[in-house]
Amino acid sequence: MNQQPHLNGYLSPDHPLSPRGLFADLPAGIRPVVTPKLTTIWEQDTATLPPALAKTRRWYRSFAERELRHGALSIDAAPHPEPGKIPPSLAALLKTAGREGMLTDLLPRPLGSASLGSYRYPLVWAQALRTEELGRVCAGQMLLLSAHSLGVIPIAFAGDLGAMRRFVLPAYRQSLAGDPHIFAFAITEPSAGSDAEEGHGASGRRPGTVAKRVDGGWSLQGRKVFISGGDIAKSITVFAALENEGIESWTCFLVTSDMPGFEVVRNELKMGMRASAAAEIAFHDVFVPDDHVIGKPRQGWAINRATLNASRYAVAGMGVGLAQGATEAAIDFACRTQLAGKALVNFQEVQLQIANMITETSAIRGMLWQAARKAYVARQDRSSMCKFHCTDRAVRVVEMALELMGNHGTLHDSGAEKIYRDARLTQIFEGTNQINRLAVIEDQQEQLLARIEHN
Ligand SMILES: Cc1cc2nc3c(=O)[nH]c(=O)nc-3n(C[C@H](O)[C@H](O)[C@H](O)COP(=O)(O)OP(=O)(O)OC[C@H]3O[C@@H](n4cnc5c(N)ncnc54)[C@H](O)[C@@H]3O)c2cc1C
Repeated sequence: MNQQPHLNGYLSPDHPLSPRGLFADLPAGIRPVVTPKLTTIWEQDTATLPPALAKTRRWYRSFAERELRHGALSIDAAPHPEPGKIPPSLAALLKTAGREGMLTDLLPRPLGSASLGSYRYPLVWAQALRTEELGRVCAGQMLLLSAHSLGVIPIAFAGDLGAMRRFVLPAYRQSLAGDPHIFAFAITEPSAGSDAEEGHGASGRRPGTVAKRVDGGWSLQGRKVFISGGDIAKSITVFAALENEGIESWTCFLVTSDMPGFEVVRNELKMGMRASAAAEIAFHDVFVPDDHVIGKPRQGWAINRATLNASRYAVAGMGVGLAQGATEAAIDFACRTQLAGKALVNFQEVQLQIANMITETSAIRGMLWQAARKAYVARQDRSSMCKFHCTDRAVRVVEMALELMGNHGTLHDSGAEKIYRDARLTQIFEGTNQINRLAVIEDQQEQLLARIEHN
């Protein structure tokens, strides 16, 4: 079949008045200044990155296309896994990811797998590129491979070099050798999600997971819920209050899954990101030796907040990737589907919708990169702004894709309905988007208080 020479309503690309031919007769010195290169938006954006991060972005994209694409839909539709029964395809993915350095990119070579060049820039920027590229292809597998870093960050932010040497470096070596050692991060309790993530709620609550002083260490008692990767993690950074004290005594403990009394109770059957289990875990008088305290006792709240301030950039990156994935699915549909004898993409209403999706996605990517490029210190207000705005707009972009795709968009095979379910979760975890809005105001509090007029 002959290729359609131009879309309805447009001149063909080689017409003298079209963008490609337009500047051909201008003086040679001016032409390069006004003639944009014909590249994709992805290539244009990648070209704006420092070379080391551009290379990192390409690495994430090629890994996602090679390792995540083929299983994305089948893993999402697979039966709900019981705790400890990871499907063989995901076990194989973890091994490959480990060997290729996808589980160790928080640290530079030779300790981990990040390039030294990329380490010159804020780590949250590279992590946001990672969640974007992996999330674009399959957000469930992205979370399976990325929640692990959330479990390692508290050890880094505690500034606990001993713990890095004892726990993180051997685990990284195992992963690089093809024996994946997964970490998880556990703050949420059955009656405390937001209260574990913002000070106002936390200040008045009684923590459910408690550590009691015993000879040589601590005895942990309680439960954590919705712990991503909690079912497969070998090491978990668990936040618990000290006995008879409030949440201000929160302490971070490194619990390993082989400690007696540790139990994976169940995996939740949740709406999206199904390749990654949200596990309920329980501690039945788990003995945790003193050298498994991360940082010092009572530093947990600060370590937790520092961790979330950094990781919310990565959640914003998930939003960008999901919006990109939805936009690509809608464009593919508009080009393949015929309406009234012509491809859907010829209709201007459809073109307007596609232009909106491309632009919304570019806008949130721009916001995120702008904030992340300067985030050597991860600020709460900036990371929360990125988290709630990028994920809210991403869900809107996914809705636009579904609007455009009609009944086809509701089918599992379209990929769009999975993106919709996956994207919705990003508005909830790492603090609901309401809580992240409040975090922006919390950082402005002193300025606001100063402006309140008293009679
Ligand atoms: C897929 C998934 C993965 C997750 N992974 C992890 C993980 O790896 N580790 C971990 O520890 N946790 C994890 N979580 C938990 C997640 O961080 C919490 O679900 C989230 O913080 C929200 O808490 P909650 O659901 O208990 O909501 P709640 O705290 O019960 O809040 C209920 C509602 O009240 C609102 N609200 C609460 N407080 C206020 C307030 N002060 N002002 C106004 N509104 C308020 C909230 O915005 C929300 O709308 C995960 C959750 C999901 C869904």
